[in-house]
Amino acid sequence: MKKINAPQNAQTSAAPALSATLAVAAEIAEFVARHGAEYDAISRDIWEHPEVAFHEERSSAIYEKRLASKGFSVTEFPEMKHSFVAERGSGGPIIAFMGEYDALPGMSQVCGIEKKPANEGGPGHACGHNLLGAGSLAAAETLAHILEARGIPGRVRYYGCPAEESLGRIPMVKAGRFSDADAIMTWHGADVNTPHRYTSSANLSLVFSFKGRASHAGMAPQAGRSALDAVQLFNLSLEFMREHLSPGILLHYVISDGGDRPNIVPAHAATFLYVRAPTADIVPLVMKRIMKAAQGAALMTETSFTSEIKAGKCDYRPNYAIQDLLYRAMGSLPMPVPTPEELAFAKSLQATVEKDDRKATLAPIGAPLDLLKSPIHRTLGDFGEGKRIGGSLDTGDVSYVVPVGQMNAATWPLGIGAHTWQSCAASGSTWAFKAMRWAGACMALAGFGLVTEPEILAAAKAEFKANFRPYRSTMDL
Ligand SMILES: [Zn+2]
Repeated sequence: MKKINAPQNAQTSAAPALSATLAVAAEIAEFVARHGAEYDAISRDIWEHPEVAFHEERSSAIYEKRLASKGFSVTEFPEMKHSFVAERGSGGPIIAFMGEYDALPGMSQVCGIEKKPANEGGPGHACGHNLLGAGSLAAAETLAHILEARGIPGRVRYYGCPAEESLGRIPMVKAGRFSDADAIMTWHGADVNTPHRYTSSANLSLVFSFKGRASHAGMAPQAGRSALDAVQLFNLSLEFMREHLSPGILLHYVISDGGDRPNIVPAHAATFLYVRAPTADIVPLVMKRIMKAAQGAALMTETSFTSEIKAGKCDYRPNYAIQDLLYRAMGSLPMPVPTPEELAFAKSLQATVEKDDRKATLAPIGAPLDLLKSPIHRTLGDFGEGKRIGGSLDTGDVSYVVPVGQMNAATWPLGIGAHTWQSCAASGSTWAFKAMRWAGACMALAGFGLVTEPEILAAAKAEFKANFRPYRSTMDL
């Protein structure tokens, strides 16, 4: 028996026995295994045909078609291209799984141990979203089947969530698409197996565009007003501001427009800025100061500016009742076993990352660094309690409106982080598909617990209520 995590919240103090839930673990594992080749094929197909944010026409159609063929009623949402919900079952609570399927631009990669694009300059699944959608599909189909087979009332949903790497599911959250679900689960590929106990940063990304006056930089510089000067002064002010921001607030930027040619005083220039903060409510406080810096830069250079919000995400607020349940489910399903070829592949891929850099995936979530002695994490961890990662997730916005639990499955070799050519290569491997199926089974089992053991769902809801904060997108602050 795995160690049961100490209760994290007063609302989850009574650890339920879960015996009825855990008794169906073998049946769930068998169902997922029976359909395993189909989930693998979907995942591989999407990996081989990567589509970037807002262009997931083919990928979303694969899921919609598949879910419709399995008796789910599919509804597309107008607020976001390629978003939809699929539902099966009646009565009882609504248990939902979220699936993503967008790829990253420029990350094309073959499934090998050397950096080699499959399609030069093309997109690639370097965040493993080809696995994510398919794992959640496995969870939704399995839970729907097992509830129906037993005549247990319950509605199972699959949310098709496009553009995670960009705008994310914020328009869906604002439209109230998730609000009537009783509990939502999702997962992500990673290099460790753990419930996702850590939180993530709230963020806001925006472009500051400065406008000046062009002139010949050699003949009449005095007649020009440089938008690039404004950008540089603005960026410099951000550098000074850093020292006087509360810990945990991060600023990062690129000069997305630096003018055209050195002999033209730039009439246009822009900074593309990301602001990150521990929680969503801090973002507008930082933004007030950043707007003053932009105004100052414009004033000094006799230029003007506009700011355009691109995207914004709330911090993730884990529901510990669901996290604890997921942890129990993860400990009750047999972990996948790699073949010697899969182990060798993982070892070779791991070796392409500098030894010291391998720690970067584990340290932020408090995972022990000696895990790196192995190529693959093959046990169950329980990491991240009280930690926050610098990155942001659009699941964060969902966690403000519904109790949400997440887990990570070790789809990638230890020390391999997301958004790398190595994670793209690994996401197309048979090992990743095995880990993906395991994640699907774990979430299905946890879903069964939420439907059939009312005290767990009640605890999740009580925790959500006790920690409630009204939702407001950082884009609207
Ligand atoms: Zn991702």
